[in-house]
Parts: sequence; structure tokens; C-alpha cells
Amino acid sequence: MKFGTKAIHAGQHPDPTTGAVMTPIYQTSTYWQKSPGDHKGFEYSRGTNPTRKALEDCLAALENARFGLAFSSGMAAIDAVLKLLLPGDEVITGNDLYGGSYRIFTKIFANYGIKFHFIDLADPSVIRDYLNASTKLIWIETPTNPTMKIVDIEAVSVIAREAKVLLAVDNTFASPYLQNPMDLGADIVMHSATKYLGGHSDVVMGALMLNDEELYKKLWFIYNACGATPGPQDSFLVLRGIKTLHLRMKAHCENGRLVAEFLRAHPLVDKVYWPGFEDHPNHDVAVRQMRDFGGMISFSLVGADIERTFKLASSFKVFSLAESLGGVESLINHPASMTHASIPLELRLAAGVTDNLLRLSVGIEDIDDLLEDLQQAIEA
Ligand SMILES: *Cc1c(COP(=O)(O)O)cnc(C)c1O
Repeated sequence: MKFGTKAIHAGQHPDPTTGAVMTPIYQTSTYWQKSPGDHKGFEYSRGTNPTRKALEDCLAALENARFGLAFSSGMAAIDAVLKLLLPGDEVITGNDLYGGSYRIFTKIFANYGIKFHFIDLADPSVIRDYLNASTKLIWIETPTNPTMKIVDIEAVSVIAREAKVLLAVDNTFASPYLQNPMDLGADIVMHSATKYLGGHSDVVMGALMLNDEELYKKLWFIYNACGATPGPQDSFLVLRGIKTLHLRMKAHCENGRLVAEFLRAHPLVDKVYWPGFEDHPNHDVAVRQMRDFGGMISFSLVGADIERTFKLASSFKVFSLAESLGGVESLINHPASMTHASIPLELRLAAGVTDNLLRLSVGIEDIDDLLEDLQQAIEA
């Protein structure tokens, strides 16, 4: 099946009892058993629920994976992966991660004796310098947030495989429509389904997709034992959101390209970060591993200090100043004080997250209105 067909149909069948074409919201915590242990595959909704199961099968299909697991947030999905580790284990990861990932690594799991190495992954061969017998996981994000650096997933997966270390890819920014890390050798794909998968900024959810059955069993054990699993209403919302993922992503990419080009041509705009530019440092890798370049763009104004940047961030009429991304509506964000506030100043600056940087999640509104809004805000 091709992507758009999977987005609409994967994991979903007419309901056997009523014929309902849309997967019902099975609002139940428990399931009747004919005699102890004799049931229809569902026992208790922390572990399994039919609405969530349909979503998980659909999520797996979108990433060309065998298994999908839905969590009550993206952070809960990351938490489950980290719980595969033991004290003394080491993790190699990027130096410009999502703020919440950095926070859970350094403020929660570091306390349990797990060591994290934050490195620049622009050249993946650097990973070899940090590998040792304790390395158990490589965790990457690409494109990175908010400076849109591109990490070569296939090159990292070759190193991970040689070292027998798990490779997990946070694929939230690209979405499965633009990039499929499993096909490039990743062991685990993680999503904040809150973003492009849900697509309407009305639900918080996370997901893991993977192929290895042993690993799936371990992660399902953590998922059920720790219990950060989503309810049926939220599962339904994401399942419904996914039905238009391919259409929305096409529109995000189209608008994203026009906004990136507009910003680059504007005399008051200084830097523009978007992997679709031919002079982006890893444009060739982006072309190889992504189908298009998405709607996430960061930029700064010429000579702007923090006051000027705040004034710009508050001058929009169509873009909303808010955290998050990936919804149908356009958002603007000030990473240094919002999404990346939990990253120490030195590390934040080293990753290029300066006080004058703004990040756009370009939505799917009419492009003329978006460009007009950018124009009036920049010139305000
Ligand atoms: C939002 C986000 C997360 C965390 O997901 P939640 O659903 O907010 O818990 C992780 N990684 C990236 C790249 C994100 O954008």
C-alpha cells in the first residue's frame, strides 16, 4: 500500500459488531472473560484497548515497522526507551536536542547513573570517539530543533550496528511522510504525535515504532508496567488526524518553501534555517533521506536584540505565538525563552539557539495571508 492509503486504512476494519466504518471509541477499562483467561485479546485498557490498537497498527504501517506503541505523550515514549537502560550505561546524543529530551536525560535519568554524551552530529564519525563497552543507545533528532541541522541517519546506523548499540530516532519534525528512519537502519522511531501526526493541536500523545520482536516485548512490558498509555478518545483523535497526514504535509512543505524563500529575500532578515536551501550545510543528506523539506523554519532579524525579537514575536495576526508545532495553524515560537528554556545558556548558545532566533511552524492557511502577516510583523 502507498502512504496515503495506509494513512487512511492501516490497522482499521469495519467494526465487527455494528459495521461502523470509523473505529469506535472503546471507552472501557475492562473486558468480559468467558472463563478466566478466555477473552477476545483485551483484558485491561492500560495494556490493550481496541481503539488504541487500531492506532498503533496504523502508526507502525506509516513507519514501515512491524510494531507500534502509543504513549500518553512524546516524553512518556522517550521515558520508556530510557527505561531499557541500567545504571552505568551510556547514551550518545546530539547537542541541539528538543528541550524536554535534554531535561529528561540530565535531570531524571542522569540521577539513576546513566551517562549522556551531547555531541555535534553533523559529522557522524565523531560518534566513534565516544563509543565504549557501556554505550547502549544512540539517540538522534533530524532535522534538529530549532536550527534545522540534518543528521545522516544511515551513516549513524552503520556505526550503531557495528557497535551493537541501539539507534533511536526522534522523527517528530519530519513526520513519517517525509522520512522513514527504519528504512535507513534505525531500531526505534519515536514521535511526539502531538505534532504532525495528530496535526490539529488538540491532543498530546507519543509513539514508538520498531521491528524487533524481543525489543517490542521489552518495551510493551515497560508500557504496561509503568502505565503511561493513552485513552481511547485521544487515540481516536490521532487516528482521525492521520487520515489527512499526506495532504497536510504536502501543504506544509509548499507553504514552508514559499515562507523560507520570502524570508531569505527580505532585507531585514539575517539568518534563515531551512534544509531545503541548496547551501544548507547538509542539504545533500536531506535530499537523500527526506522526501521534501517540511514547514519548520527558524530565522533572525538583522541586528535584532531580545527586545526587538520579542516585539516581532508579538506582532503577528495570523501566526500565533505558542509552543508546539505541526498543527494546521501557523505558530511562532521564541526557542530561547520557550521550548528551549530548560537548556543551560552555554549549551544553548553553542547549538546556535541565540536570543534573536525565532522558529516558525508554517501551517496550511492560504499562503498570501501568511506572507502578508510576516511582512507586516517584520516591518512593524
Ligand atoms: C514535542 C516534542 C517532544 C515531546 O513530545 P510531547 O508530546 O510534548 O511530550 C519530543 N521531541 C520533539 C522533537 C518534540 O517536538
